[in-house]
Amino acid sequence: MAGLVFTQAVSHQWERAQCIRDLRAGRILRAEVCDADFLLRAAAQHHGVDLPKACPVCGAERMRLTRWVYGDSLGHRAGSARRLSEIAEFAAEGLEFTVHTVEVCPACRWNYLLETAEARHRTA
Ligand SMILES: [Zn+2]
Repeated sequence: MAGLVFTQAVSHQWERAQCIRDLRAGRILRAEVCDADFLLRAAAQHHGVDLPKACPVCGAERMRLTRWVYGDSLGHRAGSARRLSEIAEFAAEGLEFTVHTVEVCPACRWNYLLETAEARHRTA
């Protein structure tokens, strides 16, 4: 994606690992973390990409990675799931906005916010 850069990336991998530990130890319920609603699952199916990683909850090997865009500069597009190519197009318009990267398991509905970052276009 020419010109697309992500800055100020914040990884939530530590929280994710903690969440999985809590789940395995029974400190949180599966229903609390496997709660992807219809919209999130549909977005993962239609706008997501395959994630070559086993689901930490059910072990299914077909998770999906979905990117959601947020920010006033996006107007009506804010809060929607987008492909990387669309994110690159928005950035190329000169917009700066936040991208949330979420993993979703279609089998058990596990979902977790992996990373947040700011997207923008790098001019040469
Ligand atoms: Zn799963």
